[in-house]
Amino acid sequence: MPKGPGNKSCHNVRTDCTAPGLRQAVLDNLYYVSGNTPVTASAQDWYDAVAYCVRDRMLKAWNEGIERITKALDLRAVAYLSAEFLIGPQLGSNVLALGIAEPLREALATLGQDLDAIVDGEHEPGLGNGGLGRLAACYMDSMATLGVPAIGYGIHYEFGMFTQTIRDGWQVEMADKWLRQGFPWEIVQHEFAVEVGLGGSTETFLDAGGRLRVRWNPEKRILAVPHDIPVIGYGGTFCNVLRLWSAEAVDAFDFGSFSSGDYGKAVEEKILSETISKVLYPNDEPYQGKVLRLGQQYFFVSASLRDMLRVQQMLGKPLDTFHTTFAIQLNDTHPAVAVAELMRLLVDGHGMEWERAWAVTTKCFSYTNHTLLPEALEKWPVELFGGLLPRHLEIIYEINRRFLEEVRAAYPGDEGLAARLSLIDEASPRSVRMAHLAVVGSHAVNGVAALHTELLKTHVMQDFAALTPQKFCNVTNGVTPRRFLALCNPRLAACITSRIGPAWINRFEEEIGKLEAFADDPGFQAQWRGIKRENKAALSALAEKHLGVALNPDAVFDVQVKRVHEYKRQHLNILRVIALYSAIKRDPGAEFSPLAVLFGGKAAPGYFMAKRVIKLIHNVAQVINGDPDVGGRLTVAYIPNFNVRVGQVVYPAADISQQISLAGKEASGTGNMKFGINGAVTMGTLDGANVEMRQCVGEENFFLFGLTAPEVVEVKRNGYDPRAYAATDPVLGQALDMIASGAFSAGDREIFRPIVDNLLYQDEYMVLADFASYMHCQALVMEACRDTARFTRMSILNVARLGKFSSDRSIRDYCRDIWNITPELG
Ligand SMILES: *Cc1c(COP(=O)(O)O)cnc(C)c1O
Repeated sequence: MPKGPGNKSCHNVRTDCTAPGLRQAVLDNLYYVSGNTPVTASAQDWYDAVAYCVRDRMLKAWNEGIERITKALDLRAVAYLSAEFLIGPQLGSNVLALGIAEPLREALATLGQDLDAIVDGEHEPGLGNGGLGRLAACYMDSMATLGVPAIGYGIHYEFGMFTQTIRDGWQVEMADKWLRQGFPWEIVQHEFAVEVGLGGSTETFLDAGGRLRVRWNPEKRILAVPHDIPVIGYGGTFCNVLRLWSAEAVDAFDFGSFSSGDYGKAVEEKILSETISKVLYPNDEPYQGKVLRLGQQYFFVSASLRDMLRVQQMLGKPLDTFHTTFAIQLNDTHPAVAVAELMRLLVDGHGMEWERAWAVTTKCFSYTNHTLLPEALEKWPVELFGGLLPRHLEIIYEINRRFLEEVRAAYPGDEGLAARLSLIDEASPRSVRMAHLAVVGSHAVNGVAALHTELLKTHVMQDFAALTPQKFCNVTNGVTPRRFLALCNPRLAACITSRIGPAWINRFEEEIGKLEAFADDPGFQAQWRGIKRENKAALSALAEKHLGVALNPDAVFDVQVKRVHEYKRQHLNILRVIALYSAIKRDPGAEFSPLAVLFGGKAAPGYFMAKRVIKLIHNVAQVINGDPDVGGRLTVAYIPNFNVRVGQVVYPAADISQQISLAGKEASGTGNMKFGINGAVTMGTLDGANVEMRQCVGEENFFLFGLTAPEVVEVKRNGYDPRAYAATDPVLGQALDMIASGAFSAGDREIFRPIVDNLLYQDEYMVLADFASYMHCQALVMEACRDTARFTRMSILNVARLGKFSSDRSIRDYCRDIWNITPELG
């Protein structure tokens, strides 16, 4: 007999949640799954053993979840279609949901292992760019916690979001091969693989009943293989699934080429097929009109709809009740081709009448718009679209023909209106407007914050809003208080629980307000500050280790972490830093309370200006951090590779949250909410969800500056001249001059010229217009920070009054206003 891991006990190693049971389970996995003993195990082996142990304990809820969707005839489930799911590290959140942290910690301690170190060692799946993908993940968490049956459908990218490294101040991208070490949370479901066609042509034929039908003969077929990741709700009883599709060749080999000796050609097909799910496009806001991207979108959408139709048929329900089984949410326009694909499946595939299929389709779909930037609205040239999806282009033309007929009937003679509403942009090159397809094909369209929805209705989509006002509604974004408070800030979570009990974790909106009673309690305030200081010390330790920058935990931590984009205005922030630096240089003896200004975020690899802003921040940091006149009172640091994992350390350590986009540009933001529920006070513009956050926390607990959205329009209408601001504001003029003169580039006047010139001669995002207001606000912030009791009160009230920004509230809104689903829990 081989000497096994010594399972002499009666513990069920798959389900037992006591410390001895968990200990035995970890040892069993170590031995039987990864072929190790505690002596030979690497850190990765320990991680895998613990992950499988936790996964086992999710499987009961997981299997019940799959049964729920595939057995219940009268149940409506959400299908959340998203090209991105930025789910973050899995071990910690699953342990939290199951409530087994303490026994697991104890079990691992007896094996000489530290649960926190194992949790912190996880490499996250970076299957999203930023806010949009993270929102999808928060919504999956909330749906599982509230008991809303749901499947998340997306893409199993082989390479996720690139890893950002910094060399000499410049961003350098490295491929993220996240599956290198395996991913213990997924189960591959080969039996549910489906074939997806691409390219080719269409033909008409008469069916057996003598009806004219259309057939698509794709040139190419790709196999979509589902990878299922469980999403377990808080409490551990309700589990949904995230189903991500990866592309494989239908036939691995072309046997003809193989037998004729051309091995290379034989595997060519395989390589080509697999490129579909190879890589996440790293562009956050502007879309990229690449044919492979459209291929990715269609690939996952087609596989997902066919998967849903399989469930419908397995339930034995007729196809014209498909909308009673699934509410399909389109997360932005990335999956909007689903409207045409469902029509094709119903009409071509199942011979349904067009009108009936259209009724089913529009009752299924609803669409979330995420952007106000015109360059981010997806448009595909019809030639490219028709080359890849010839049948879908025909279907879109037919949808458009019928739609414009209705428009012309309602507004006779208004050809301008018809042209503006058309699914086809007739300007050269003619292209398909994906947002229009999504709106026409959906029964509900939502913006993601009150201001954003208003701007959608009055500007971006005003013609649609006039035509079908009942379709438009608002669902303000939210974030999960599990990951972004309970998990990432355990000290603050315990402190909150000690005062108001633990119910806030899954009843955040209802419970967190109870904290307000302690806002002025000196003992509570001291505890609150102590925790913030510990969180800052933890971030400092990380910065010291990875950057060699010493951050003083007694300084005010002022943080801007998010994708780098001109509309988010990291350059406004660094201009402020330069102005503060100049003030210190002018009078080094004057009092200046310690301030640490932290940045983090990735730039799209092809985004010239964003990459140069990253370089500028690094150069400014080098000068300021090394200047003896400053003496460590002002420090600047750039935290590389901002992702969910890094965010979980950064959000809890912030005193001030920078949310400084030009009003009218940020749809909602969710980073603002994560900072807020961790006790950071916002310094921000009236943009996105900042507006509602300020209403909730009270204007005295929010540092407001900048133009409002209507003022932005007004100033631009009167002819915005940024140079006038630089000429009349000496502080601004001097800050710009310092950059231009090479003060941060060893005399090099060229390197940052593109930034300075852009600001002086274009400044699309009105950095110079908002600068003075920002500096005035900065003075108020510094004054408030010096009054410890006042600032602590502001911090506590931010947490206590942000209950609305739980993604549980957002999901309840979707359930009530859009999906017509009643959550089973809570
Ligand atoms: C929340 C989050 C974002 C979104 O941040 P915003 O400030 O809303 O732009 C981006 N990236 C990551 C990793 C996040 O967790």
